[in-house]
Amino acid sequence: MDGPGARLTGALLRDWQRRSHEASLPLALRQMEVAGNLGNLRLAAAGASDGYRGPVFMDSDLYKTLEAIGWELAHDPSPALAEFAADAVALIEKAQQSDGYLNSYVQVSGTTRYARLSASHEMYCAGHLIQAAIAHARAQQSQGPPLLGVARRFADQLVDYFGGRETASDGHPIIETALVELYRETGHAPYLSLASQFVEQRGRGLIGDSGFGSRYLQDHLPVRESTEVVGHAVRALYLEAGVVDVAVETGDDELLASSVTRWQDMVATKSSLTGGVGSRHDGESFGDRFELPPDRAYNETCASIAGIQWSWRLLLATGDSRYGDHIERLIYNGFGGAIAAGGQRFFYVNPLQRRDGHYERDDPGRRREWFSCACCPPNIMRLMASLDHYLATTADGVLYLHQFTGASIGANLAGGVLRVDMTTGYPWSGTVDVQVRIAPPEACGLAVRVPAWCRAARFTVNGSPVTPDPADRGYLIVRRHWMPGDVLRCDLGVAPRLTYPNRRIDALRGTVAVERGPLVYCFEQADQPAGASIEDFVLDAGDLPERDADLPGVGPTVTVAVPGERLAPATGAGLPYQGPAGTGTAGTPATAVAIPYFQWDNRDGRAMRVWIPRTRSARNNAAADRSPAADETL
Ligand SMILES: [Zn+2]
Repeated sequence: MDGPGARLTGALLRDWQRRSHEASLPLALRQMEVAGNLGNLRLAAAGASDGYRGPVFMDSDLYKTLEAIGWELAHDPSPALAEFAADAVALIEKAQQSDGYLNSYVQVSGTTRYARLSASHEMYCAGHLIQAAIAHARAQQSQGPPLLGVARRFADQLVDYFGGRETASDGHPIIETALVELYRETGHAPYLSLASQFVEQRGRGLIGDSGFGSRYLQDHLPVRESTEVVGHAVRALYLEAGVVDVAVETGDDELLASSVTRWQDMVATKSSLTGGVGSRHDGESFGDRFELPPDRAYNETCASIAGIQWSWRLLLATGDSRYGDHIERLIYNGFGGAIAAGGQRFFYVNPLQRRDGHYERDDPGRRREWFSCACCPPNIMRLMASLDHYLATTADGVLYLHQFTGASIGANLAGGVLRVDMTTGYPWSGTVDVQVRIAPPEACGLAVRVPAWCRAARFTVNGSPVTPDPADRGYLIVRRHWMPGDVLRCDLGVAPRLTYPNRRIDALRGTVAVERGPLVYCFEQADQPAGASIEDFVLDAGDLPERDADLPGVGPTVTVAVPGERLAPATGAGLPYQGPAGTGTAGTPATAVAIPYFQWDNRDGRAMRVWIPRTRSARNNAAADRSPAADETL
């Protein structure tokens, strides 16, 4: 590849992408048959009126799988995946009705089209169909693949039916961003107009009630008047992606600013350390500000994916590095932790603590192969297949590299092409080499994000130090006449560090977490000595030595040894509350071992926790530190 574009070539993200291709997608292809997704479309194609299986949005799982295949075929050709896609597209074409409408549930059940948009997911399915079609069109770079024709016929039907009138939109957003993407792909303005209409008419109570109230559907307040993310987390964040898309394509700065306000509020008051969002199982929803219990966190995998997609759009719209920081946090933690080491089991719910003997009616606390509501696994696969889309952008004669990983990235710049190879063992290593392979004839800029977590970054160009300009908003930008062979080296200190919660998060007061580079760490019982419950460990201040390891079931990793004390196990006699006499008991010196959060639950299913209580002396040390974060923790 010598022209513009990016692809993953190595390091952890490429390993994940390959695993998704080799292990996850074959599982999805089997499940499309086993779970009934393909069968439902066959019934619709045959005009049947009985036999539909599964929830009303079963079509969307197939569309997400097809989107994943579309992106996969661009970087890892596969006759098996191409054949599955061709067969599925032929079936979808056959099931589509003559006016463009397509929904296997509505067609087989005989229910009325668009009669209950609060719950029917008809345009949610349409949105995923459109996204799949765009993936196949862009990845194969051909103008008329059949799936794009199917998607356009459906989109045209939506424009005819909904366009230009006061109407409900779908209870589950995604059609908004899909229509804008289809507008970008085709240049057909009515798609953008309909997306804009759906955004503007939301929040006016037109959608109706699906049984969870209007906040659940983000239909309680017009988008422009809303200052915080509320309700069902995945719906809220898919809607935001569409809001930013509409704002950018229509040049609406006020609409964009409203989305930035909600993003800031979400990150500052409603995000777990992993970036995951959604504090409540009830309604799969956001909680109050600072309501962030680690054990009860819902943090649906799809919400992390939606968060990446929203943040990416804001990064494109604003060029602010904090969006790149947040995407990194989500990719390696909130998203990365959802997939088992083998790539064939998945989390839907991603808490930051699991106790021994955990029981939850709606979630077993272990990864599963598939789900009756299977939104997350194929969503994971479409993001894995498109991870290379989130690496780089160009603006004002500068190639910006937002993520650190093995990659080959090129852009049209300065009257030619700038192509670089990024080589690194990230996130295990913090050393990243960006080597220029092809340089344009004139001077241009090459930029890398300076991660917000990084306290001691050093950069050199061909061995000479360069420093970031604070005016460059979290990036190091080097402008020069680049030559093939030039190397921009980044040394991002990834030594383990302690992270303190905001004191308003009641559930986390007096605790601390371990992070290393972009990775959140956790403590699993499997790594502790026999008889040493992780629930009785308290952290003390001290060095955090790390060690390369290859753990059975987990694979290659870097563990961190954390100093502290082991307290006597709680007896459980009487109420679990006491007067001052029973507090402050000193424990015995001990060390606990932490591993990256994304690698948890690959062993025996015992206890895990991210946040660990601190000893009194560790709390005093934090106070003496005088850092704002330390003050916040007292
Ligand atoms: Zn999901």
